[in-house]
Amino acid sequence: MSIYTGPVFEMAREQFNVVSDYIGIPVEDRDRLLLPKRAVAVAIPVHMDNGRECVFEGFRVQHHLTLGPTKGGTRFSPTLDVGEVAALAVWMSWKCALCGLPYGGAKGGVTCDPYKLSRRELEAVSRRYMQEMIPFVGPHTDVMAPDMGTNEQVMAWFMDTYSMYQGKTVTEIVTGKPVSAGGTEGRREATGRGVAHLVGRAMERLQMNPGGATAIVQGFGNVGSVTALALAERGVKILGVSDHTAAYYDRNGLDLASLQRHVGEHGVLAGWSTEALFDPGELLVQPCDVLVPAAVEQVITGENAGRLRCRILAEGANGPTTPQADRVLAGRRDEIFVIPDILCNAGGVVVSYFEWVQDLQQFFWDEQEVLSRLAKVLDRAFTRVMARVDSDHVPHRDAALAIGVQKVRDAKKIRGLFP
Ligand code: GLU
Repeated sequence: MSIYTGPVFEMAREQFNVVSDYIGIPVEDRDRLLLPKRAVAVAIPVHMDNGRECVFEGFRVQHHLTLGPTKGGTRFSPTLDVGEVAALAVWMSWKCALCGLPYGGAKGGVTCDPYKLSRRELEAVSRRYMQEMIPFVGPHTDVMAPDMGTNEQVMAWFMDTYSMYQGKTVTEIVTGKPVSAGGTEGRREATGRGVAHLVGRAMERLQMNPGGATAIVQGFGNVGSVTALALAERGVKILGVSDHTAAYYDRNGLDLASLQRHVGEHGVLAGWSTEALFDPGELLVQPCDVLVPAAVEQVITGENAGRLRCRILAEGANGPTTPQADRVLAGRRDEIFVIPDILCNAGGVVVSYFEWVQDLQQFFWDEQEVLSRLAKVLDRAFTRVMARVDSDHVPHRDAALAIGVQKVRDAKKIRGLFP
């Protein structure tokens, strides 16, 4: 039996099979494309503040090395398992290939609740995780980055731990680092800005005006909060936001600056307001022009997809929409314009690529250069996806995945099978 089980990996498999049917990949060729190259599981023993020892489980899945090193984030979450990590690694592969980055996909993480750890415990978990991964990663093997539950500080600890073992500073081992530790301008905001940029492109195509449009954003971490701000800068009114602690809705628009201050002080949305409190499940089905799921997987389901009342579904999260929901959305294609995850949230890994390139060259760009190159890469991917939608009349997700999968398939074919 395969170790890759669970609903999230099944979802990645089902999407892959749908696309394989569409582009004609024979069944016997599919495992070589879908099954990860490597999966590493480690034990992470840590001295806790209460004097006890606690052992956490950590993973890293490297999907393929066909186009270059693997690349992907590190997730700290209490429910993480190897099936979820593998699905996220597979999606990273299609995302990098769609954007023309010279990477395979990877993902890793630790099964822990980072919000319940003290800062010292979080540092211990982060450093021991990286130390356990040293034999399996490297600037030309596998390059980590942030994901849910990790941030710039964790990346700085990863980089420092790896560097201490090498006896020299190796900034190019991770991306998403603070600028003061070899990071790039614009990385922290890159995913959210990319989402807003692509929403802008979708609006152009639909001949909508961002001024006066409305949005609801699920998730108020690095992706959700920056997306909300970037949309607001374009004149979009933010009607609703939520995180795992609270949901708020105001049909006249929410005060984003005040929400941002609150999260800066308390870490979560809970406690910001009692009047604007809203049912989190119902938030997704309120009328709005742009709905941005920017938190966890599988929130747009077969059950609620028929009730969505948005014009654009911009997938800031990885895997927010189930295949059952996709089937419903395929029937609502003229009503809802989907910007699929591997395109919508690609700004993060695109700027990670820029960070890696700058670190390798020790030659750093200003923010303007980063942003204009980011827009160029996202525009090219958007245009290619739309061209495929127009020529083949397929759903947006299938078009995006087909481009990514085909690129990896072609590279594997031309390189051949060793030995
Ligand atoms: N975790 C992000 C993602 O899912 C970024 C990965 C990276 O920058 O390597 O795309």
